[in-house]
Amino acid sequence: MDKQRDFVLRTIEERGVKFVRLWFTDVLGTLKSVAIAPAEVEGAFSEGIGFDGSAIEGLTRSYESDLLAIPDPSTFQILPWRGEVDPTARMFCDITTPDGQPAPAEPRNVLKRTLAKAADAGFTFYTHPEIEFYLLKSRKFGAEGPEPVDRAGYFDNVPGGTAHDFRRRAVRMLEDLGISVEYSHHEAGPGQNEIDLRYADALTMADNIMTFRTVVKEVAIEEGVHATFMPKPLAQEPGSGMHTHMSLFEGDVNAFFEEGAQYQLSRVGRQFIAGLMRHANEISLVTNQFVNSYKRLWGGDEAPSYVTWGHNNRSALIRVPLYKPGKGGSARIEYRAIDSAANPYLAYSLMLAAGLKGIQEEYELAPEAEDNVWALSSAERRALGYRPLPTSMYDAIQLMEDSELVAETLGEQVFRYVLANKRREYDAYRAQVTQYELTSTLDVI
Ligand code: GLN
Ligand code: MG
Ligand code: MG
Ligand code: MG
Repeated sequence: MDKQRDFVLRTIEERGVKFVRLWFTDVLGTLKSVAIAPAEVEGAFSEGIGFDGSAIEGLTRSYESDLLAIPDPSTFQILPWRGEVDPTARMFCDITTPDGQPAPAEPRNVLKRTLAKAADAGFTFYTHPEIEFYLLKSRKFGAEGPEPVDRAGYFDNVPGGTAHDFRRRAVRMLEDLGISVEYSHHEAGPGQNEIDLRYADALTMADNIMTFRTVVKEVAIEEGVHATFMPKPLAQEPGSGMHTHMSLFEGDVNAFFEEGAQYQLSRVGRQFIAGLMRHANEISLVTNQFVNSYKRLWGGDEAPSYVTWGHNNRSALIRVPLYKPGKGGSARIEYRAIDSAANPYLAYSLMLAAGLKGIQEEYELAPEAEDNVWALSSAERRALGYRPLPTSMYDAIQLMEDSELVAETLGEQVFRYVLANKRREYDAYRAQVTQYELTSTLDVI
């Protein structure tokens, strides 16, 4: 720890860093940042930097507003987009109460608590996300909705295209920040792109996702375009998912792998999937947190709508990819509901908690879905026991309200805050009289 602190202080000196940004995240997943002078960094390590937690969405109740941000030296990076003049660095922070306790409602603490539970059971949790987003010509839009930067599709190579340059710059910047990228490509929608981050432990990955979003927005500004992580910005085009591959390790051993089992999937792996399936609907308000999220889930285009699992079935909620022979270490499962606008700390906490519950309670895994779930009739789906994911935010609110698993994992404060915030959002949405209603109903009778 002290070595890492020394390293940070030395690097600040050697590289002539002029500003150090302290980063943390509010309950909805918005990145917060306070810049301090290099001379303040040593004090920040030992005493923290005080701030008003009640001014940040969901972090505290107003009568206990004082919080401290203590930078985590292992997350120190120089921000590549700030250039060589007056270099700026950043560190993620641990947020504590004035007496040094982890602030209960801070999302990074929520994930740390959940990871500690996994560690008690002997597991470390790794994730790798496939992050989809749209590039638009501008933030402004007219009656036709936002305008994407191109008309290209899945894996298209667009010579000289914005998206191509964009991905190259973004990937380089991510690598400069120590974030490895596995794949990047044009996605199915016009202007839609995907960048897949190389797997890491879930806390590092949640930090990486926060950094990723900032990088994508910074590069968009440089390229004169607008990047959005909105789950379904264009009604007729695919939404932006953040499919997440997950695995549990016991020491060096991938606990999802079992040679010779069906799909090489161990009992632990099957129970983890069963846990995710049983609790998918309760955690949906966090994995899919906006009114708009449900338009992606029910908008087709390979976003899941039913609680099913399958091997290489892209209509399934959970997919078990095939591993290359001899690559048992890469055994993993892919959760496909979560979208690109989720708070990664909270969503990963709940996905992990749901899976762990399946292991602890030894849930039985339902048979896999071999069919294209959307092509079945509703009677067939019912007969096969394929339950729908929540069809609207309203459903998702009702389901989370009754969830012990979510209340226990998020802690009472975050649980209540999310519900209150989302009820407000839903009420504001419901109060709208939409264009659709006007055109379809104005003259109907
Ligand atoms: N865009 C789809 C989704 O919203 C995923 C498409 C894909 O990667 N196969 O989940
Ligand atoms: Mg992909
Ligand atoms: Mg994709
Ligand atoms: Mg995928």
